[in-house]
Amino acid sequence: MRLEKVTALVTGANSGIGQAVCSRFRREGARLLLTGRRERLESAEPEDLYVPGDLNDEAFVQSLAAEAAEAFGSVDVVVLNHGLQVSSSLTEMAYEDAKNVLHSNLLSSFLVMKHFAPLMPAAGGSFVLVGSRLGMVGKPEEVLYSAAKGGIIMLAKGAAIEWAPRNIRVNVVAPGLTATPIIEASFQRRPDPEATRRQREAQIPLQRLATPRRSPTQSSSSPPRSRPTSPALSSPSTADTRRSEKPEGNMKALAATPRNGELGFWMAGLAAQRPTYPCFTGQDSLDLAIIGGGFTGLWAAYFAKKIEPSLSVAVFEAEQVGYGASGRNGGWLSAMPAGNRAKFARASGGGGIEASRALQQEFVRGVDAVLDILKAEGIDADQHKAGALVAAHTEAGLSRLVARREADLKYGLADDESQLIDRDEFQSQINISTVHGGLFYKHCARIHPAKLVYGLANTLTSMGVQIYEGSRIERVEGKSLTLANGRVTTAKTFICTEGYSGPLLGKRTVIPINSSMIVTKPLSDEAWQQIGWNGLQCLNDSAHTFIYAQRTADGRIAMGGRGVPTATPQAQAATDRPPLHHRPHLAQARHLLPGDPLRG
Ligand SMILES: Cc1cc2nc3c(=O)[nH]c(=O)nc-3n(C[C@H](O)[C@H](O)[C@H](O)COP(=O)(O)OP(=O)(O)OC[C@H]3O[C@@H](n4cnc5c(N)ncnc54)[C@H](O)[C@@H]3O)c2cc1C
Repeated sequence: MRLEKVTALVTGANSGIGQAVCSRFRREGARLLLTGRRERLESAEPEDLYVPGDLNDEAFVQSLAAEAAEAFGSVDVVVLNHGLQVSSSLTEMAYEDAKNVLHSNLLSSFLVMKHFAPLMPAAGGSFVLVGSRLGMVGKPEEVLYSAAKGGIIMLAKGAAIEWAPRNIRVNVVAPGLTATPIIEASFQRRPDPEATRRQREAQIPLQRLATPRRSPTQSSSSPPRSRPTSPALSSPSTADTRRSEKPEGNMKALAATPRNGELGFWMAGLAAQRPTYPCFTGQDSLDLAIIGGGFTGLWAAYFAKKIEPSLSVAVFEAEQVGYGASGRNGGWLSAMPAGNRAKFARASGGGGIEASRALQQEFVRGVDAVLDILKAEGIDADQHKAGALVAAHTEAGLSRLVARREADLKYGLADDESQLIDRDEFQSQINISTVHGGLFYKHCARIHPAKLVYGLANTLTSMGVQIYEGSRIERVEGKSLTLANGRVTTAKTFICTEGYSGPLLGKRTVIPINSSMIVTKPLSDEAWQQIGWNGLQCLNDSAHTFIYAQRTADGRIAMGGRGVPTATPQAQAATDRPPLHHRPHLAQARHLLPGDPLRG
């Protein structure tokens, strides 16, 4: 299945060529977003997403793009197959009809291209415009249609040049006369349909009309998956209505089948504002090459340039900045070290507890340092420092928190940086009915991860750092980096590829752990009141499962949890079925916020 990871928009999918294109795309495994004017699309399959509307209306096209971003994250291919033909001699052609023909063929294509190009991934995408031989030759009574289809050819040529640096291809397919229902209907309107057909065929070198190839599966009359009108819980990558036979409130109303590697909720929501960077080709020589455009790479570039502004620094990102965990995480800017502090102490080369305490204090300083930099650089990442609450739902959980606080003090936190709070105090901050008490951590801020990535990347370019996307470093050999279409010589290289480091380093030194998230729709004021989450504290709990939640700037709850290590084939297979991973999160959401306030 050559298009297994491909998401495609097909316009004019209701019949003829569009229907055949959809059929072929489905067979090759692509996921389809379809649009047309009809309220229902009979030919759509249950797994397709059909959104009816008028492509001449920019507001609709914009909302279609937003819906694509929400459901799929990115769109790889757009097939523009819609159009309108009004045949008339020039002198009899009504101005309204002429406008309509130009709009429905040419300007609507422009609108779709304008709003979908920002959704194409940095690695590239493709627009295919269905033109016509009439875009290249004149024909009586088809002059306006010819003008529109000729316009499409130049629209594509210009766009192909403009978007080449972004790896977006734009092509026109100009089929000859094709036996589509529209053409068949036009024959039927003639006094002698068969004679008209023969006459047309005689004009074609092959002496026959083309036929759109359709696969037998297309005859299915199953209804399409309709627009997810109010998905309360879509995963950051999306979710699946088909798993929800009987949607229960908002907890199971999921959006679309997620696939590994897709962009998550944070980045998908910013698709239109995302800064894009060119792909590296050719040769260059640098002081510092950074591999990986996540937080590690971007912050490394920031500090390198701050410390020594004269350095030539470039970041090479295989996909797009923030593509890795940096653009997909829980948005906790937190001073809680992940991992076991006693182990840190033992591994510190003789530093013992003091080294572990020093590390903890670095984490504490790090939170405010990041917030100070965001302020100084004017980066808006929805940052807000209100601390974090850890809930204990049982007496056993509470005793774990008491022990944890003792360890906090032992390993370097001050008295007011980790505080035990009782049930009443907890409920006055977040009204969890089952809570027994909790811990409050002072040094934790909520952020929007993708806004932070993009803000940092913008800051870097203003500092003179080059960022390249769609630029995978294939080999590192001493001071030489090899890309598919280029080579870089560099004095220093930082490899900042975290979980992706295996291929570059030749071995794995860490086991990647899967962690995934779910996000609610924006909750109503009533739901927030019921939840009683009065501030912007981050939230997790003392259960053995690791979970984290935040209240987003637009009023959602974003919640994640640790999944399984991905080192075994079974675990890898589980990773390829993310909805299963979301189920525990749904259960955790219910456990953390009982009484189902999320149903609203
Ligand atoms: C669901 C989830 C929730 C999380 N929540 C939090 C949280 O709330 N708080 C927190 O502090 N941490 C959290 N984390 C962890 C944190 O997000 C990561 O540790 C951090 O983002 C890693 O940043 P990084 O830059 O090292 O790696 P990444 O963000 O993975 O960046 C590495 C980049 O390198 C690129 N790359 C890979 N190979 C190549 C190559 N050969 N050439 C060029 N580029 C390449 C990748 O495309 C990627 O963009 C979470 C992680 C996940 C998955």
